Amino acid sequence: MNAVVERGKHVKAAVYNGRMMQSAACRASAKSAQASCGSEAGQGDLPTEIWEKVKNHPCYSEEAHHHYARMHVAVAPACNVQCNYCNRKYDCANESRPGVVSEKLTPEQAVRKVLAVATTIPQMTVLGIAGPGDPLANPAKTFKTFELVAEAAPDIKLCLSTNGLALPDHIDTIARSKIDHVTITINMVDPEIGAKIYPWIFFNHKRYTGIDAARILTDRQLQGLEMLSERGILCKVNSVMIPNINDDHLIEVNKAVKSRGAFLHNIMPLISAPEHGTVFGLNGQRGPTAQELKALHDACEGEIKMMRHCRQCRADAVGLLGDDLRAEFTTDQVMKMDVQYDLEMRKAYQVRVEHERAAKVAAAQNERAEFAGEMSAITLLVAVATKGSGLINEHFGHAKEFQVYELSTSGAKFVGHRRVDVYCQGGYGEEDRLSAIMRGIHDCHAVFVSKIGGCPKSNLIKAGIEPVDQYAHEFIEKSAIAWFRFYLDKVKRGEIQHVQRGDAAIRQGSLISAG
Ligand code: SF4
Repeated sequence: MNAVVERGKHVKAAVYNGRMMQSAACRASAKSAQASCGSEAGQGDLPTEIWEKVKNHPCYSEEAHHHYARMHVAVAPACNVQCNYCNRKYDCANESRPGVVSEKLTPEQAVRKVLAVATTIPQMTVLGIAGPGDPLANPAKTFKTFELVAEAAPDIKLCLSTNGLALPDHIDTIARSKIDHVTITINMVDPEIGAKIYPWIFFNHKRYTGIDAARILTDRQLQGLEMLSERGILCKVNSVMIPNINDDHLIEVNKAVKSRGAFLHNIMPLISAPEHGTVFGLNGQRGPTAQELKALHDACEGEIKMMRHCRQCRADAVGLLGDDLRAEFTTDQVMKMDVQYDLEMRKAYQVRVEHERAAKVAAAQNERAEFAGEMSAITLLVAVATKGSGLINEHFGHAKEFQVYELSTSGAKFVGHRRVDVYCQGGYGEEDRLSAIMRGIHDCHAVFVSKIGGCPKSNLIKAGIEPVDQYAHEFIEKSAIAWFRFYLDKVKRGEIQHVQRGDAAIRQGSLISAG
């Protein structure tokens, strides 16, 4: 793949884009940051030092995730905690869940892969180490990888995800390693609830079980979070929503992490199916529905921003969230690439991305201005087929996921995504998959696509979901707001009656084909 080294046309970004056409300061900033992080409003009232950390981070900024990519390198196989939702032995090529990985890397292989991806995809701005085990249960490999990447690609942000058990022991090393984003998975602050999620932990050379294990874990997690916040390191907390186990309790978790300086709270649905071989998968523990998840997000949204765009990525994910390119960067392929890391080319490309991003934000603001003074109690959800860049640029039949926006006279707000099996296979649509897609977006009034075939179109209309293709290749928010204005006009004129829609299913099981 020597194309990689021919500047200009070798840059995979062209292909990629073509295809998708803390100290006290941190704690204080977490509060002032809430209004802006993850919104389309740009820096807003975020302090500049925080804005610099989040503005092109696809996980810390919902708006950035349409434009910037991240990658994980799987250098950390061992784990010191057993979670009932995790089985690291299970791997399916089309599976996307934390802990899932196809090949493990040495630090040297990892840095080579980072450089290959960063050269090919200049909008890749973040390297995360998230497993497949716990990075801090593998500290030598984890910190060696960060050190090598910081030397070779100094513009890439370094991110660490941990269960938090070993976190208090590594705060100084994290601070020295230029890691300024840490994610801690915190599913409970009550050991009795923790005992239902964690069968054991391994701590200080000893295995603990039950409530003792959960008590040690929660103490260490909260202590680590406080220590990072005091150092000015931005912290995101991940929580898995497990119905009837910790769903109500997560409101308490939200308050506990907020008060200890967390910047962002990411509540994700449990993904649980028997084929995953997890305790929860095998005992029939269900995941939440789309509306249960949204209701919890809404209930927690206050002074701490809720992350709603997490894709629960694999430990070896590469690319834009929701559009994984890891299959193009296997170790064999990476070793054959002629990689020349070009910082200037990356910067120039990202300047272009920023222009595109600014144009998108301005277009949405202009469209929203049309609502000035207008009030309506109506809010509704719409689904969007997109390959990125904030555009409606995906064919209904090719969509691997639909992004979901809530529309109101305040504008368009991203509230989640729904993974689906691709409907169109070899030119033909599959009926079972269409039914599954419709269950996944059942709570939406419309679906925005660049194109759609006659058969799915008529089925969607029958199900009360309007297929909208007249905004193909236009910006999502601007188009959604424009459509919503027409919708409200039709309601006012009595041409249609607004009715609430029902709930929707979050995809469980492995994807049959993400192809
Ligand atoms: S798992 Fe969530 S937070 Fe982590 S890289 Fe993926 S989207 Fe970002």
